Amino acid sequence: MNEVLIGLYQLQRIDSEHDELVSSRGELPIRVEELRQALVERENILADIEHFIHDRQAQLRTIESDLSDFQEKLDKYKGQQFDVKTTREYDAITFQIEDAERRLGEGSQAMARISMEVENAMSDADAARADVAQLKTEFDESKRHLEELMAETAEEEKKLLARRAEVLAKVEEPFLSMYERVRPAKNGLAVVSVHAGVCGGCYNAIPRQLVLELNRGEKHTVCEYCGRIVVGESIAVAVDGERQEVTYEVDAEEEE
Ligand SMILES: [Zn+2]
Repeated sequence: MNEVLIGLYQLQRIDSEHDELVSSRGELPIRVEELRQALVERENILADIEHFIHDRQAQLRTIESDLSDFQEKLDKYKGQQFDVKTTREYDAITFQIEDAERRLGEGSQAMARISMEVENAMSDADAARADVAQLKTEFDESKRHLEELMAETAEEEKKLLARRAEVLAKVEEPFLSMYERVRPAKNGLAVVSVHAGVCGGCYNAIPRQLVLELNRGEKHTVCEYCGRIVVGESIAVAVDGERQEVTYEVDAEEEE
């Protein structure tokens, strides 16, 4: 069997594995960043709500103390009402009483309104806290997963690149140039094997006689439909032990 063709097929298998590895790593950092941003946003919203509650509660305390002042004055005026000597004095004290009563009424209304606002804000804060807790869990998990994946894939990548260097020594020109030219144009898949009489890249039929020749493992062809380098199934079996689907395609994967 032709060692160059075997090397070429091995090169394709290694590069496909590497593409898959890079792609598996590619999605996760984006996900982690999205979660981090969502978490920060939610934490800011929660902080705003808590700030609002704090402000309104301070307001409530002020109003409460004002109300007790007005009540005290009102009680005092009401006591004085019986001691007045003149109509003028009576009118003046009546005015003070009405004023205090009005302020008490207004204050009570404001308290009811603000208390309602605080109550609503507290339930908003509960919801925001639940969101923050959930996002935090998701973020921590994704981040840990990413760190594990980076560590795992770093080791795997090192091994792949070492194997690639070994294999590359076996592949001669012009095969290498052809490979480098076809691979980027064909979603990362430049070398395929024939299987059941069709091209493993585009599934178009290959002439019977050519299939037989390819399967002897001494020659290759270029698929007239997809332009990929096609080797015999015997090469694929020699490389993989048994024929495996070489279906990983960089762009096709992303379109899903
Ligand atoms: Zn083809």
